[in-house]
Amino acid sequence: MHVDRRWWLLAGLVALLALFLALDLGRFLSLAAIKSSQAELQAWRAAQPLLAALSFFAGYVAVTALSLPGALVMTLAAGALFGLGYGTLIVSFASSIGATLAFLASRWLLGGWVQSRFGDRLAGLNAGIAKEGGWYLFTLRLVPVLPFFVINLAMGVTSLRTGTFYAVSQLGMLAGTLVYVNAGTQLAHIDSLSGIVSPGVLGSLLLLGVFPLVAKKIVEGFRSRKVYAGFSKPARFDRNLVVIGGGSAGLVTAYIAAAVKAKVTLVEQQALGGDCLYTGCVPSKALIRSARFLSQVQRAKEFGMRSASADYDFGEVMERVQRVIGQIAPHDSVERYTGLGVDVAQGRARIVSPWQVEISFADGHVQRLSTRAIVIATGARPFVPALPGLDQVEVLTSENVWQLRKRPERLLVLGGGPIGCELAQAFARLGCRVTLVELAPRILQREDPEVGELVTRRFRAEGIQVLVDHQALRVEIVGGEKQLVATCGGQELRLPFDGLLVALGRVANLEGYGLQELGVGTGRTVEVNGYLQTNFPNIYAAGDVAGPFQFTHVAAHQAWYAAVNALFDPFRKFRADYRVIPRATFVEPELARVGLNELEAREQGVPCEVTVYRLDELDRAIADGETQGFVKVLTVPGKDRILGVTIVGEHAGDLLAEWVLAMKHGVGMNGVLGTIHIYPTLAEANKYAAGQWKRAHAPQALLAWVQRFHAWRLG
Ligand SMILES: Cc1cc2nc3c(=O)[nH]c(=O)nc-3n(C[C@H](O)[C@H](O)[C@H](O)COP(=O)(O)OP(=O)(O)OC[C@H]3O[C@@H](n4cnc5c(N)ncnc54)[C@H](O)[C@@H]3O)c2cc1C
Repeated sequence: MHVDRRWWLLAGLVALLALFLALDLGRFLSLAAIKSSQAELQAWRAAQPLLAALSFFAGYVAVTALSLPGALVMTLAAGALFGLGYGTLIVSFASSIGATLAFLASRWLLGGWVQSRFGDRLAGLNAGIAKEGGWYLFTLRLVPVLPFFVINLAMGVTSLRTGTFYAVSQLGMLAGTLVYVNAGTQLAHIDSLSGIVSPGVLGSLLLLGVFPLVAKKIVEGFRSRKVYAGFSKPARFDRNLVVIGGGSAGLVTAYIAAAVKAKVTLVEQQALGGDCLYTGCVPSKALIRSARFLSQVQRAKEFGMRSASADYDFGEVMERVQRVIGQIAPHDSVERYTGLGVDVAQGRARIVSPWQVEISFADGHVQRLSTRAIVIATGARPFVPALPGLDQVEVLTSENVWQLRKRPERLLVLGGGPIGCELAQAFARLGCRVTLVELAPRILQREDPEVGELVTRRFRAEGIQVLVDHQALRVEIVGGEKQLVATCGGQELRLPFDGLLVALGRVANLEGYGLQELGVGTGRTVEVNGYLQTNFPNIYAAGDVAGPFQFTHVAAHQAWYAAVNALFDPFRKFRADYRVIPRATFVEPELARVGLNELEAREQGVPCEVTVYRLDELDRAIADGETQGFVKVLTVPGKDRILGVTIVGEHAGDLLAEWVLAMKHGVGMNGVLGTIHIYPTLAEANKYAAGQWKRAHAPQALLAWVQRFHAWRLG
């Protein structure tokens, strides 16, 4: 439907342009033509001023909207016919309206195509436009050196808002309009278009245009200078970079700095590897693996076995988790990083000035390093609420749960987010009686409702008690029994437990290493700009401490930007790109997502088409007995551009990689469909989802003709 309308508009525009050229209408818009009919035009204007003004206005809008040559001559004519005041008024509005129509036509006809085709190359421009689009356009408008119609069409394919485009165009073109309309009042004396604007006038306009950008740079420079007031910058530095924190973000930052031959020190107060290695991704996935094995054993009959059982000890399973950590630890070892050229300092860091970091070592000695730049990568920790009575019990969090060797018979998990869900299912499979308590109306509430519902059904089928809409009030010990008192629909209930695991989110580590004393801006995280710079431009932050995503792969992604920007600013710096961020939650059925889901699309007002392919139709999923789940793809209406994908099902995180690549490199549904997928694999689900989309977009009118063609061929 949209496609049809677009073609009609395009055809209409081409026809109008062809008519304009065929009839040589351009001859009426030349300087000579206007000059020769100046007397008649002026007589007409004198006789019917309103009609003349309205006709002129409409003509001007048409010429600019259709991007026809002649706007300049018409501006002069406005001066000649209507004088400086009215001429400027008419041209100012007509040119802005015409420009906006051209901008909209360009966006409608080409915007989607250009963005999907050159999306990643336009990413910088889009980000710049999103943040400073008004400034860019203002400068371009003020300095009439770029053709008017080129700006209209080019801006149409960016993400600049229409309102901004109109307002800035009207304001920015005013100076140029005045110059040309004023020149028009002297039309009789003008012999060529090039002579209208003298080099002096052009120079002034150029200065006016450049001024906003220069002013902005001056203000930025002034602001950053202000934060450094009172600190003396060392004449020489010990290091190019000091990185604080040796988790995912810090390790990658230091690695990149060493790879580009910078002198870098990485300070870590515990062991290199951070949350991911010791208390996050690695132990949780190792635990999930053992738990999954047990769940498979319990499903033995489904796979044709008469029976199967596993004899296991909870403590031994938890020991395996430590062995896995031990196996991966060498990837993040001091030896490895030292070998790569990183100076590793095992101590606690504190920032004492914008260019100085003090390191306190376990043996009591203290070292002070001067550095040109600092990257803060100090991570986050579990959030534990101030719930009355909580101090009476040992609280388990993702930090200490790995020390358990004895299974808590009744485990209460507070929080139905990704971490709470992963651990709830794993411990339930290891024999704990798990109750999952969530305040929101559903678990995994950032995902589309059917995702949470599917996981809830599975959890309940596995014996987990899932309590949504339940608010934890306090902890009490009654007759030696630990109980969580919660409320649901105004009713209080008591949930007895042996172990209480709190998984209510993670808070950034912001205290105790100099941020407040120095005045580094913080909120819930360290506040950073698009380049990951704090309010001290030589101090950067990456990973969980900077947010907004708390994943190892995002920490590593940010680390690249933090390292490169810290080392090469002011010569070159890059804005962190968050357009294609994949994520997975390793419950069963696994769920993974990249880009928008339906919830977010609705919240952000992004129109989308939804295609769902269910795994119970997929041969391999049926053979594997893993038919729960789906591939859900959001696309731009009428186009094959992918806005987001959610996969629920076996190996969802691995299957998502294809979509991540597609989105990153602007490959659409047709591209995925046209790619050969091995039969029979789970990955075929991606192709079938694309196929489903294709069927819904089959050109029915064309197919009707093709049917007639085949009928004719039958003879
Ligand atoms: C249970 C769980 C499961 C998870 N599963 C996944 C998953 O499957 N996939 C995924 O992508 N993410 C997962 N995550 C998230 C992931 O672990 C984090 O996003 C990631 O580790 C953040 O890395 P970071 O470098 O920002 O911080 P961290 O890894 O926390 O590193 C910060 C380091 O800074 C050190 N430090 C702090 N202050 C100082 C100081 N003053 N001086 C010296 N050193 C200091 C700390 O000791 C720490 O080692 C999981 C998290 C948890 C809790």
